[in-house]
Amino acid sequence: MIAASADNVVKTYGSGDTVVHALAGVSIGFRSGEFTAIMGPSGSGKSTLMHCLAGLDTVTDGTVAIGDVNLNGLGDKEMTKLRRDRIGFVFQAFNLVPTLTAEENITLPQGIAGRDVDREWFDTVVDRLGIRQRLTHRPSELSGGQQQRVACARALVGRPDIIFGDEPTGNLDSRSSGEVLDILRAATDEFNQTVVIVTHDPRAASYADRVVFLADGKIVRELQRPTADDVF
Ligand code: ADP
Ligand code: ADP
Repeated sequence: MIAASADNVVKTYGSGDTVVHALAGVSIGFRSGEFTAIMGPSGSGKSTLMHCLAGLDTVTDGTVAIGDVNLNGLGDKEMTKLRRDRIGFVFQAFNLVPTLTAEENITLPQGIAGRDVDREWFDTVVDRLGIRQRLTHRPSELSGGQQQRVACARALVGRPDIIFGDEPTGNLDSRSSGEVLDILRAATDEFNQTVVIVTHDPRAASYADRVVFLADGKIVRELQRPTADDVF
C-alpha cells in the first residue's frame, strides 16, 4: 500500500523577478512500513517537499496524497482532521507544552482528538525511548535529548499511518539519536507505519530503507538500504 505520494509536484515562492523554484517536478511514493530519508544540500527543497506531503504547505502544481486522499482539494477543517488522525510529526525543535508533564504532552493529541490511549503501545514506546522515569517531569526539567524522546513518543503514541521528521536527530547526542532512530525503525518494522525524515545525519540515513537525494528541487539519486559510508 502507498502511504503517501507526490506526483509531479512543483512549488514556487514569490513571483516575477524574485520567483524561487523550490520544487521543480518531484514524483515519489512512500510504501507502508517503509523508512525513507531525504538528503541534499541546504536549499534543495527537502523541507518544502516534506511540508507539502504533510499538508503544511500547498503545492503550486501537481498533486500530493496521503493514502488515497488527494490533499489538493481539502479544506482547512478536513486537512486538520487528516493530520490529526493519520500523521505524526517530529521536529528539530521539540515543541513541547512547557506547563504540562512529559506524560501529559505525550497523550495531549489523543485527548484533543477524543481518542483513548492504547496503554500497551504507550508502555512500549516509553520503555523503548527510556523515558519511563521522566513521565512526571516538565520539559524544563528534561535535557534536550529527553525532550526529543518525549516529542517522539507524542508523535508515535497515536499510531499514525505516517510520521514526518524534520532533522529528528539534529540536536541530539549519539545515545539519544540511537534511541530515537531505533523507535522509528520499530514503528516501521513492527507496526507497519511509514517514516519519512529530512536529515543531514549519515547515521540517521543508515537506518532508512531508502535515501532520496534532492538537488535544485529535483530528485537526483536514490539509494536502497544504504550504509553510513554510502551517504557521507
Ligand atoms: P532545504 O530544506 O533543502 O534546505 P527548502 O525547502 O527550505 O530547502 O528551500 C528550498 C528553496 O525554497 C530555497 O531556495 C529557499 O530559500 C526557498 N524557500 C523556502 N521557503 C520559502 C518561503 N517561505 N519563501 C520564499 N522562499 C522560500
Ligand atoms: P541527553 O543528556 O538526554 O543525552 P543532551 O544533554 O545531549 O541530552 O542535550 C542535547 C541538547 O539539548 C544540548 O545541546 C544541550 O545543550 C541541550 N539541553 C540540555 N539540557 C537542556 C535543558 N534542560 N533545556 C534545554 N536544552 C537543554
